[in-house]
Amino acid sequence: MRERDVMYLKSVGPARAKLLKSELGISSCYDLVRHFPSNYVDRTTVHRIVDFPRDADERSMPSMLVRGRFISFSVHGEGAKCRLVGLFSDGSGLMEIVWFKRIAEIRKAYLVGNDYMVFGKPTLFNGKWSMTHPEIDAVGASTDTAGLRGVYPLTDRLRQRNITSRLLFALVKQVLDTLPSNLTETLPPHIVSANGLMPLAAALHGIHNPQDAAMLAAARNRFKWEELFYLQLDIQRFCRNRATSSGGHVFSRIGEYFNRFYKECLPFELTGAQKRVIREIRQDTCTGRQMNRLVQGDVGSGKTLVALMSMLIAVDNGYQACLMAPTEILATQHFETLNKMAAPIGVNIKLLTGSTPKRSREVIHSQLTDGSLHILVGTHAVIEDSVKFRNLGMVVIDEQHRFGVAQRARLWAKNIVPPHVLVMTATPIPRTLALTVYGDLDLSVIDELPPGRKPITTLLRYDKQRLDVYKAIGAQLRQGRQVYIVYPLIEENEKLDLKSLEEGYEIICDTFRGYRVAYVHGRMKPEEKEYQMGLFASGEASIMVATTVIEVGVNVPNATTMVIENAERFGLSQLHQLRGRVGRGGDQSYCILMSKPQMSKTTRERLTLMTRTTDGFVIAEADMKMRGPGDMEGTMQSGMLFDLKVANITRDGELVEATRNAAIALLDSDPTLSRPENAIAARQLALLTKRVADWSRIS
Ligand code: ADP
Ligand code: MG
Repeated sequence: MRERDVMYLKSVGPARAKLLKSELGISSCYDLVRHFPSNYVDRTTVHRIVDFPRDADERSMPSMLVRGRFISFSVHGEGAKCRLVGLFSDGSGLMEIVWFKRIAEIRKAYLVGNDYMVFGKPTLFNGKWSMTHPEIDAVGASTDTAGLRGVYPLTDRLRQRNITSRLLFALVKQVLDTLPSNLTETLPPHIVSANGLMPLAAALHGIHNPQDAAMLAAARNRFKWEELFYLQLDIQRFCRNRATSSGGHVFSRIGEYFNRFYKECLPFELTGAQKRVIREIRQDTCTGRQMNRLVQGDVGSGKTLVALMSMLIAVDNGYQACLMAPTEILATQHFETLNKMAAPIGVNIKLLTGSTPKRSREVIHSQLTDGSLHILVGTHAVIEDSVKFRNLGMVVIDEQHRFGVAQRARLWAKNIVPPHVLVMTATPIPRTLALTVYGDLDLSVIDELPPGRKPITTLLRYDKQRLDVYKAIGAQLRQGRQVYIVYPLIEENEKLDLKSLEEGYEIICDTFRGYRVAYVHGRMKPEEKEYQMGLFASGEASIMVATTVIEVGVNVPNATTMVIENAERFGLSQLHQLRGRVGRGGDQSYCILMSKPQMSKTTRERLTLMTRTTDGFVIAEADMKMRGPGDMEGTMQSGMLFDLKVANITRDGELVEATRNAAIALLDSDPTLSRPENAIAARQLALLTKRVADWSRIS
């Protein structure tokens, strides 16, 4: 079936075969049956014309299946208005079937007195039922199928060439009706039976033409299982290979820099979670295999310190380290923080961004090559080809979701022995994602905030309470605190958003006279943005009016209040990220969500959840449930073996776990998949693994 070209199917010739290939990537019969329906039409019941619902809304009227005979045909009107009308009876009532096109052809195709199944949307006009261009099959024909019938994703180009969903179904049916009895499974039979899965042949019938909803569910389950299983098998096999193959710098000792920093410079006691994560990193880096670790810690959990101490271990062992941040302002902030902490013990740290002047750049380049520069902090400028390290031992990537996989890959290429990679993110990673997309990374979690932090108080307020909100802001400002006021991103509705941002800015300037107000949005020139951010970071400006450009990482501990306008327009995770900009010092902080009183039930649920919890995991899980993995999945997808067609890692969390366990068990019993009963798995995995580059080693 894999070898059989669709060209040899009935009603497919070279031209259609070419189209199927170019539009849907279908060339063999196997490809065809692996093109799953996106929807189904219900042909499970034959309806009687007399029972058609007379009071149904025309738009919501479902398609109906009727069995009966044509009584007569007649042609009405002329020219463009010409139409063919067939009078159709099912014994219970009459309806007109109307065609406006292909009249001559249709007139010949159907015979008065024969039995037909007619499937279409009935409409009622002047007390008479009619259907326009319904699907008609002679009773007993191969397309006359009972049950649910697949509706297929198509492209416009296919539709223009008369390749309809119905034709596709007919083709699928041709293949299904002649499936060889010894059809090769795509899962090892012992796995199929041990997990109570539908065998491949039955599942193919079940997903294209299920007799009922239960059969469809069982078929879908089988294909979901298969997708997730091979994904997990790939991840697990990869992790095992990495564990056995050598090729990581060995950081054998903890030396002077680390110890002096710990004893003399550490401004506070490390939290238990920070200690644990540093220990995990330490263990990884002394094994001789390359570390690929993801550190997840909520905003404000102190990831920067963990990064610094890990980099000091690298420096202690004679290596260089590098920290990448997604924006210039963040890189600068990191540089300042790290430099302040580590310069006293003689660590040479430099900052490299797009705006580093040529002279300093040259100094950096030469210090990098002679090895006297210990730690380089920067934006993506650090991965430019001209930047060459003497011996790069560790790379820390902050707020990883802003860095493309390709950018990280370039970094990887900088050394023969790959540097240890530490990825830090504040985005909570729900378990199903951690097991799939991040499945080949080791995960450390900083699940503890530094002591003395007061949880942020989050309030939901409506426009009519605006005056009270402004009073509260005023009180904070008088105490010398700073305030963020956030507007939706300028994007979808650019004009409106900009207008509300500008109006807001003016009102704020007007209301809080005597305080300097900074102003930032994504459409500004980078220099202007940096300047405005700088005003706020230095404390010169007390208020920052901004769009979500401030979402990531900015650290202004004196900012205690954030007002989020049109909060209903933000996603949960985004609100959480934004809120993390306050509550970074020891003072009680506030986040005020402004909204209109009228909102949908789900919006109210979303905003209420924000007022109830500051736990990033709870919020991320809720966000995934409400919106699906969305962006998160999108940006991380590049690390996956293949696109999931049927399975959904959010909704199918249980299957993710089950398939992971099955994959681990299989590899435990047969690590190289060389036993005969696992030949199918080995072959299937090889077929699926068509990665251009081995991205997963670095992400
Ligand atoms: P994030 O995890 O969001 O990157 P940061 O590393 O920016 O967090 O840390 C947030 C703030 O907490 C910083 O001002 C930092 O100095 C402080 N901090 C970090 N670790 C501790 C600690 N163990 N005790 C007290 N304060 C800490
Ligand atoms: Mg940070």
